[in-house]
Amino acid sequence: MDTNIKVVPLSCAVQTYAWGKIGDQSTVAALAKNQAGFTFDQHMPYAELWMGSHPKGPSKLINMPDSLSENNSYLGDWITQKPSVLGTDVYQKFGASLPFLFKVLSVNKSLSIQAHPTKEHAEILHQERPDVYPDPNHKPEMAIALTRFEALCGFRPASEILNYFHEVQEFLAVVGQEAVDGLINAEMATQRSIRKSAVHKALKHCMTCLMECDPKILKIQLANLVNRLNECHEKREDTTPYLGRLFLRIHNEYPGDVGCFVIYFLNHITLEPYESIFLGPNVPHAYLAGDIIECMAASDNVVRAGLTPKYKDVATLTEMLNYTPQTVLETKFLPTQDDNDKFLSVYNAPVDDFSVRKIQIPSQTLKEYDMKILHGPSILLTMSGKADLVFGTNSTKLCKGSVLFISSGTHVSLKDIAPDEEVLLFQAYCDLQRT
Ligand SMILES: [Zn+2]
Repeated sequence: MDTNIKVVPLSCAVQTYAWGKIGDQSTVAALAKNQAGFTFDQHMPYAELWMGSHPKGPSKLINMPDSLSENNSYLGDWITQKPSVLGTDVYQKFGASLPFLFKVLSVNKSLSIQAHPTKEHAEILHQERPDVYPDPNHKPEMAIALTRFEALCGFRPASEILNYFHEVQEFLAVVGQEAVDGLINAEMATQRSIRKSAVHKALKHCMTCLMECDPKILKIQLANLVNRLNECHEKREDTTPYLGRLFLRIHNEYPGDVGCFVIYFLNHITLEPYESIFLGPNVPHAYLAGDIIECMAASDNVVRAGLTPKYKDVATLTEMLNYTPQTVLETKFLPTQDDNDKFLSVYNAPVDDFSVRKIQIPSQTLKEYDMKILHGPSILLTMSGKADLVFGTNSTKLCKGSVLFISSGTHVSLKDIAPDEEVLLFQAYCDLQRT
């Protein structure tokens, strides 16, 4: 086998889930258009581009010598047979497979409200119910906005939630006065440490009451709120205190779904391009609209809470959630600018499984650029720009939509950077030696 192959171009799976942005509006489609074998349909939703070795959408190796491509046409198989491309540290910790999955998402319609278990919890869930929880791994996630991006993430401060109970009687009616009184009392506790655990407990009770509410009451109260908000809008009244537009939009997407009320529990955040959020274990979240880069540990473990026709494991979810309220500011996760390289920023995830680099070189700035060596595997996605990517005595062309797997320890540089457009690259990687 040729052990000199360090950088391999990939052809990546496109997922056409119904919630994706349609045709030309989708960043996923715009990137996939440059991939061989991709047929574009203006009316088709293009939701996700998957870069990695996940069995539900494995990346294929392209432009490989014939002798290699026959038995190793998928990235995952190639890594299994040639684990040295991961580097020793990563191989020893994660075995002969890629520890992360890298994605681009173009979200037109809200995704389910969900949380992901800790590693320890995932092991138990997988053992007990492998049909629902397909692997024993945790699934920390990072989302980096490419366009303006909207999401629900983490519990709001209790005072905000209480304010919605006050403003939105329909929400109060579904959760019930007794549970809400519990939250009011918890919030009034004067001693800080007592207040914190009391708020947790009370929020958990409120959330459980919502998730387990009587479906008849839910149906009536959702209809009442829809009518009330529509009337307000007809009279041109401001419905911001009730999150009117958000509620109606989500209810229109998922009529009758209990998740419509979850918007009053969770922070509604908007990221500007290149801002990001990191979703640790048990943090409830839902992606609502926009385009993102996403990176996650190699896992499929999702516990759903609403905005979905899929199975909701309410008991597991309400038990596991992180009920610590957080502000919008605390939810955001900022990249660090590299001290010696003004074109490089790092989204340094607080987990071993992955981190993401952004390399952004304005037009007319550089002809050549040296990329810092990584001690682990990486996947490099070109969002814009043209250049030659040189490694050793070999090279390959970069253009919008090209995706490359780069082996551990490979020195790569960009040459002949086209001056007329910005180079924008995202690189997901696993490097256990990073500081
Ligand atoms: Zn998630």
